[in-house]
Amino acid sequence: MSDVIPRETAHTSGLYQKRDLALVRGDGALVWDDTGHQYIDCVGGQGSGNLGHGNTAVADALAKQARTLSFCTELFYNDRRAELYDRLAWILPAALDRIFLCNSGTEAVEGALKFARLATKRTKVVATMRGFHGKTMGALSATWGPEYRELFGPLLEGFSHIPFNKTEALEEALTEETSAFIVELVQGEGGVRPATHEFIAEAARLCRARGVLLIVDEVQTGFGRTGTMFAIEQFGIVPDVLCLAKSIAGGVPMGAIAFSRALGELPKRSHSTTFGGNPLACAAAVAAIDEHLRLGLARNAAERGTQLHDGLVSIGSPKVREVRGLGLIQGIELKENAGPTLKGLQEHGVLALGAGPTVVRYLPPLLISAAQIDAVIDATRRALAS
Ligand SMILES: *Cc1c(COP(=O)(O)O)cnc(C)c1O
Repeated sequence: MSDVIPRETAHTSGLYQKRDLALVRGDGALVWDDTGHQYIDCVGGQGSGNLGHGNTAVADALAKQARTLSFCTELFYNDRRAELYDRLAWILPAALDRIFLCNSGTEAVEGALKFARLATKRTKVVATMRGFHGKTMGALSATWGPEYRELFGPLLEGFSHIPFNKTEALEEALTEETSAFIVELVQGEGGVRPATHEFIAEAARLCRARGVLLIVDEVQTGFGRTGTMFAIEQFGIVPDVLCLAKSIAGGVPMGAIAFSRALGELPKRSHSTTFGGNPLACAAAVAAIDEHLRLGLARNAAERGTQLHDGLVSIGSPKVREVRGLGLIQGIELKENAGPTLKGLQEHGVLALGAGPTVVRYLPPLLISAAQIDAVIDATRRALAS
């Protein structure tokens, strides 16, 4: 055992709930701790690791860019940024052809909320119960979790939360003062809850009819996670604003807001961020998107996701209330606290994460193999049996 844990403990903010595990190396869907123990990584950087560990195309792109031009703010144009815009425009719906680059998911949401105020000249926002959109003050106002919000009030005015998948509640909540409705297509932190197609179709229709912008938060579901490059493809909608981050740059910190020209001109300098569109992150994102397409990761997510879902269902444990998800975001809702099962999984060589107190969530790298999925199912069976 190395001294990593005591050295971190001496200076950590204390804000994170940590496991007694120091990870020091990764390859594909596998990680190793400082004692040489191997795990299948179903935490997957909490959704930022769709490409897996140690992707050499991303590593090479980063190294090359670091030697060529490592910083260049948006005061200037840049070749890597232009290249990334091309890639994003290629994989996104044609209507979402304007892009603001930033550094994280919460920052993408912050920008989206500001853009909605600019575009609609309205201030209110409707979000969903159990929704998660980040923890900076604006995004936190859209996030539902009382455990995140209550310590920090007052938050932004004018935010309300409707029950997820309840069309009538949305119909009532959207008014002439509403700038935006923000929603995830699969609630991630809120317990791995897929939206219904009817709810999302109706949300798109209502927003259009009432001049409300539809902001879809695909920070967690984007880049192949649900079995298509973006989950909106499966729901058959194109939002006005799409928030992206997590896996956009192969594990390198980056966020993006893709939005429609229909939002109109945004006033110059009304929003910005120093590291937005920096060439290092852009180089990583270009390489990551190319690797996604080359490796067919969305299709693997769909196939392995079905395998994982069916395998988890087949365990048939009396502790399980429901297995749900889309592609390779899968969750098991238990009739008890998820802590012991997460611990059991770790003992059986699988790292998974929670999503609320009773849900075990799996977010493996999308290149995970069929044999590794079988091992995850087997470890889950054993963890649930003890
Ligand atoms: C993780 C997440 C965020 C926040 O992203 P950060 O990069 O942690 O700020 C926002 N929305 C969703 C849906 C997320 O899963």
